[in-house]
Amino acid sequence: MVTGDGTYIKRINRSLILQKIIEYGMISRADLSKITGLNKATISVQVADLLDEELIYETTQEHHSIGRKPIMLSLNQRVGYVLGIDLDYKTITYTLSDLLGNPVLSDTLELTTPDYEVILEFLKAHIKKYQADCTDSRYGLVGVVIGIHGTVSNDETINFVPQHQWHNKTLKTDLEKGVDVNIHIENNANLCAFAERVFNHHDSDHLLCVTMYSGIGLGIIMDGDLIKGVNGYAGEMGHMIIFPDGNPCKCGNKGCWELYASETSLFTSLNKKGHPGITYDQLERFIYEHDSVVCEEMDHFINHLSVGLNNIINLYNPETIVLNSDVLQIYPEAVEAIENNLHSNVSQYHRLEISTFGKKATVMGACALAAKRFLGVPEITLELASERDILNTQ
Ligand SMILES: [Zn+2]
Repeated sequence: MVTGDGTYIKRINRSLILQKIIEYGMISRADLSKITGLNKATISVQVADLLDEELIYETTQEHHSIGRKPIMLSLNQRVGYVLGIDLDYKTITYTLSDLLGNPVLSDTLELTTPDYEVILEFLKAHIKKYQADCTDSRYGLVGVVIGIHGTVSNDETINFVPQHQWHNKTLKTDLEKGVDVNIHIENNANLCAFAERVFNHHDSDHLLCVTMYSGIGLGIIMDGDLIKGVNGYAGEMGHMIIFPDGNPCKCGNKGCWELYASETSLFTSLNKKGHPGITYDQLERFIYEHDSVVCEEMDHFINHLSVGLNNIINLYNPETIVLNSDVLQIYPEAVEAIENNLHSNVSQYHRLEISTFGKKATVMGACALAAKRFLGVPEITLELASERDILNTQ
């Protein structure tokens, strides 16, 4: 028999009600009772508390049938704000969003140094600035989540950031000493996977997201939860060896996947083969002009990518695989070529897609995670802004 004290059960009920209000956008007390299985008295008490806290608001829905117009409940999305930060190699992107993940302000700034102390002060100053921007709302800035392009421990210390050569940095606690707001840090591939699930693939409980920029990262969602491993470092698939005795890697091994299938590896090869400094626009043009060198390098890139994907599919049997890459966004035909390489009697997946979010996925996932933490909901599903604008008239 499952038992629990009253406060605990109340908290569980509250989070379930709030989760359903977010999921449905607008919902009546009667429908909440039907969907959650909670009785009407419980719904009524909980809703009264949420209204007092201004976390939700009431509207009267227009309809043409006879009888009372139902009172609908929605999340008060601007009662507080969240800040998502993508701490990348050469840039920092900040996106302030409301509690439904709608971006309000966004900015990308150049990063000219890898020095930890300098970046720490830079982050503190900017978080304070965004906090000051939110003082008109009841709860202000309620949470910050920072995406790290490296390994993050389960206790939220940074284990290693290869591009900055950071080892064992306590960024969360160092920031919280100077800024009065909840701060969390998370690996960027995990945030990209979370963004895909929250904004795009609501029903996919077994989702993999492969980020393919300077290295390759993997965000793993299985049975609806992020899989992180005993230390928090799961998903470092860029360092899966696909060529024994291949090229040497910064990790100390040889022949790692990201040396052959990351965007950096593709551009490095193109630079060596007569296309120094090639841009994404030029790459797109060369692909569609069937430039022989570019087409050959793209074939290698896609084949190497497929080898790693085949291994990952065998490991996880995923429902959805999302590839987050600007190169693949400009060449969506690659999906068919990759799928043709993934014919095996064993490896199974349901769908393979290219992310439409691109590099924004990290801040989108960061904002969604900060909102989820503040609202205390077990799961959060959000609509992309353009779709939701039609639904919300407030
Ligand atoms: Zn490696």
